[in-house]
Parts: sequence; structure tokens; C-alpha cells
Amino acid sequence: MSNQNISRYVRQEIFRGIGKAGQEKLKSARVAIVELSAIGTAVANNLARAGVGYIRLIDGDYVDITELQRQSLFTEEDAREERVKAVVMQEYLRKVNSDVTVDIHIASLDSGNVDSLFEDIDLVIDATDSMETRLLINEACHALKKPWIYGGALASSGMTMTFLPGHDKPCFKCFLGDEEYVPGEQPTCATEGVLCSTTSMIASLQCAEALKILTGSKDLRKDLLSFDLWDNSFDTFVIDKDPDCPVCGKKEYRYYGKISGAHTVSMCGKDSMQIIPSHEGEVDFARYADKLQHQGTVKYTQYTLDFDDGDVQIKLFKTGRAIIKHVSDEQRARAVYAEYIGL
Ligand SMILES: [Zn+2]
Repeated sequence: MSNQNISRYVRQEIFRGIGKAGQEKLKSARVAIVELSAIGTAVANNLARAGVGYIRLIDGDYVDITELQRQSLFTEEDAREERVKAVVMQEYLRKVNSDVTVDIHIASLDSGNVDSLFEDIDLVIDATDSMETRLLINEACHALKKPWIYGGALASSGMTMTFLPGHDKPCFKCFLGDEEYVPGEQPTCATEGVLCSTTSMIASLQCAEALKILTGSKDLRKDLLSFDLWDNSFDTFVIDKDPDCPVCGKKEYRYYGKISGAHTVSMCGKDSMQIIPSHEGEVDFARYADKLQHQGTVKYTQYTLDFDDGDVQIKLFKTGRAIIKHVSDEQRARAVYAEYIGL
């Protein structure tokens, strides 16, 4: 047999759980990955190599030097040039596996775009570090009847669970219970740190579950898996469906289907605030460069426009979303946006 006749997926095709039939299913499978975090980049890499036919990357961020410790595939050059993560990943994955369609969406997931980003997808991978985004994923996947795989990592501990559509299945809110989510009060990777081992572990667990779901395996993990790599603990917990759950019990969604106005989000691990306008559109960078050039340095690419006047630093995206750097105060971020961008 010549090399050309050996499938690149031979190690998966001889694996009892997948086989040639399973590999064909992967080829026609469609997966969305929410955020190109350490978990998201590892999952994207793993699934592209495994031959998942269509991968949609949803992320509105750029590469930062502090992320290289755990975000595989990004380089110092990417960080230096503050390249858009989704674009870097798309270029890389196309080189890794040209059979795979890599679709990118350079924005955060929100209630306004979630329908169009999830409706033609077979499986959603949660790789966000925002609880608000995760609660939106949970509600959207319940409403749209999509399976999704939760993955969270903080310091040396991680948690993952597979959520499937179905009347008898628990959802993420069943697991959270009555615990109220207070924005800004959750511990984050910026305050607690995180190990690459933790995020890689979660990504591996999610990928194995993804391959099972996409090939129709009956061997899915049903419980919540929780571990701490520093304390050497590995546990599973049974999560029961809560009949009074506002999401899967009553369909009272708090995030899904709600149109929010312009909002500000602090960015995990970055000393920055993000402003998301209520109406996104196509920004004419040339026009803005012309307008801002008298106030500071402006440079732009196909995807982003950077402005710096020595005091204020702004990264503006095509949709009108902007990251205001070195600002931790919401009011200040909004004021900067209004003064310089003012869409
Ligand atoms: Zn529920």
C-alpha cells in the first residue's frame, strides 16, 4: 500500500470507538467553540486534527503576552502585533488540516448573535471564562436543543460536564441551583491564576466527549467531573434535574432572547474594558483614521484599528466594538469611547 492510500485518520479509524463509519460522521459534523481561551485553542486544534468537518470559532479578542503561558499555538509575534485570535487560529488550522472548514466570527457571543451562530451547529463547546456568556450558552442550547460541553478552569482545578437536550436531562442552571451570579464578584483567572495543565486537561476531556457525541457513542459521561491537579483530587458528582429550574423547567430565560443595550465588559486577564455598542455595523476604518490622525497615532488592518495618543489606547473592531486599554473603570471606558469613537 502506498502512503497516499493510508488515511490521515488511520489511528482513529482503527480505534474501536470510532472506526471508518465514525470518521465519516466527524467529517460532516459542525462544532462551535465559544472563545479562543486556553481551553478553546486546545479544543480547536484537537478537533481540526481529528477531522471534524466544520469548526466555527467565536472570539473577539486579540493575543496578549500573558496568554502564551497556556494558549497553545499563539506566538510572541502574534502577541507583539496584537493579532486577532480568530484570524491567527483560522490561518493555523487551515495549514493543519485543509479538509476542515474554519469559520470565524470576530465578536463575543451575545443574545443578538447566538441564534445565527448556533442554529446550524451540532455541538457547542464552552471555552469562555465569563459566567454570563456561559449562562447564555446554557439557555440558548436549551431553547435550540443543542448539546454543549461545559468546561471551566481556575488555578489548578477544573470542572466539566456534558449537557444534552431532552426533557429528562439537567441543565447548567440545575447544577448552579439558586446561587446568584454577581458580575465582577466571581474569582477569575486574573485573580487566582491558572495552570496550562488545568486548561489542557479540561480541553482533552471536552474533546473526548465531543468525539463521542459526534460519532453517536452511547458512552457519554453523565456526571460532573471535578478535579484539582495540585491537591490530587478527582471526583464525579451526580447532577439531578431540578423540576423547578427556571431554564429547563420553566423556560424563563434571563439572557437568551433578551436584547441588551450598549454594554461594558471587563476583560479577564487584561487591564482593559470592552465596549459593545447596542447596534453593530460595519465601521469605515479609513474614515476613522482620517478623523483620529490629528489626535494621536492611528494604524489599521483589515480587522482592527489601533489608536494611541500617549494616554488613551483604543483597539476598534469592524463591528464598532472597542477595547479601551489600561482602564478598569466602566464610566471612564464609556467616556473614552464616546469622545473618540462616538458611533
Ligand atoms: Zn435546569
